[in-house]
Amino acid sequence: MRTPHYEQLSLFIDGAWLDAGNRDTAPVINPANGAILGRVPLATAADLDLALTTARTAFDTWRHTVPAERSRILRQGATLMRERTEHIATLMTLEEGKPLAESRDEVLRAAEYFEWFAEEARRIDGRVVPSNRPGVQQLVKRQAIGPVAAFTPWNFPAITPARKLSAALAAGCSVILKPGEESPATALALARCLDDAGLPKGVLQVVFGVPDMVSARLIASPVIRKVAFTGSVPVGRLLSERAAAGVKPITLELGGHGPVLVFDDADIEAAAVGGAANRFRGTGQICISSTRFLVQRGVYDQFVERFVAATGALVIGDGMASQTQVGPLANPRQLAKMEALVADAVEQGATVLAGGKRIDRPGYFFEPTVLANVPMTARIMHEEPFGPIAVLLPFDTLADGLAEANRLPYALSAYAFTTDARTALDVGDGLEAGMIGINQYRIVATELPFGGMKESGHGSEGGAEGISHYLTNKFISQA
Ligand code: NAD
Repeated sequence: MRTPHYEQLSLFIDGAWLDAGNRDTAPVINPANGAILGRVPLATAADLDLALTTARTAFDTWRHTVPAERSRILRQGATLMRERTEHIATLMTLEEGKPLAESRDEVLRAAEYFEWFAEEARRIDGRVVPSNRPGVQQLVKRQAIGPVAAFTPWNFPAITPARKLSAALAAGCSVILKPGEESPATALALARCLDDAGLPKGVLQVVFGVPDMVSARLIASPVIRKVAFTGSVPVGRLLSERAAAGVKPITLELGGHGPVLVFDDADIEAAAVGGAANRFRGTGQICISSTRFLVQRGVYDQFVERFVAATGALVIGDGMASQTQVGPLANPRQLAKMEALVADAVEQGATVLAGGKRIDRPGYFFEPTVLANVPMTARIMHEEPFGPIAVLLPFDTLADGLAEANRLPYALSAYAFTTDARTALDVGDGLEAGMIGINQYRIVATELPFGGMKESGHGSEGGAEGISHYLTNKFISQA
């Protein structure tokens, strides 16, 4: 296996790629072996203030750039992302840990969002509304809302920035992006594609820093008119409060605790084998992951056997190795959290059917873990694990299954497997989730709105819906 080159990390402010200089830095660590890949510069207050002034000026240019030109630049950015897939995917696997094939797929899907919103940029139309007063003309316009502060996490370092940037830039907004400090090079590489595609100076800026300091300063600034965040529920709540203080809209993509309902009449093989792949993809660090597998009692034993076998067959290792299916966890916090969740469940009587412990090798590896007989009082029945732990539990009736699926304040993704049309309709209607997969686990697509309900957040990214948060309505009534 070759050791590829990792990028020099920088801030991207006012059109300049700024090295650490005298700034504080944080190490970026390869989670597969603990090696330091580089150091990410942390923005100072002065850096953020410059970014804010620049975002304000750049907004005035970009919002008046004609849609066809905005569209052309976004499309060209996407083309460069496609051309640079191998390079960007390598950076992603080195800093985040996911298998290289998944990183490649993520880069291509990120490019697809830019292509999608490049088209949507050309369709920001308005309305002429008939007036009840003779001679009065009423025009409803949709305009770019203003400079955006966007915060994205480490787990999907290409797709989470892409969903926000593509829509905001298409709408005519300028953006200050703060990606996760643990996987910074991927977002910088996307920004480089947009810069090389001719995005005017200052329309996109990328900063890293102490997250709390950065979000407090950016959100409090009168320059920022819109906030977008992907991450955990507690941080989402905090940023909501900050946005509310300035009466700014916020889009939130927060955590999940995806339930899967498997009915007696289901294709058990598809539900179990696909379920193990889905649960452990990204080492479980995916907000739409399936976590609780609720299996109707008649097929429970059969499901457990197939699920545990499929889990045991997964190949764990460094994401740079071609055979790897499950990489390391992204950081030591995640490792400690998995250990604590399993210990708590076992203490309360849970049975470990597979895995259950960290793997004794360098890096942050944890065994894909399957738990059964987990009491309702266990932490994992309430908290998003955001890691490689699956919980299996039986249910009896459709009503029982739906009640358990909808029990938590999370409502992001949900899945169901059944061959009965009536049951499929009932679960589609009854599941509280923003995204539902029936007889499949693959639920995300560029053309569909991505987002949750309840404490999983509000607002949709992607699809025809995804641009609306970056636009505001204005009417002009002319006598
Ligand atoms: P976290 O909420 O602390 O961090 C998530 C992201 O938010 C990181 O990029 C972090 O830099 C940023 N962040 C943290 N505090 C912030 C603040 N005050 N202001 C602005 N940004 C801030 O969680 P974590 O420990 O890094 O990740 C674990 C949890 O995050 C998971 O349990 C999961 O719930 C959640 N998460 C969700 C998603 C998602 O796609 N919805 C993605 C990643 C993480």
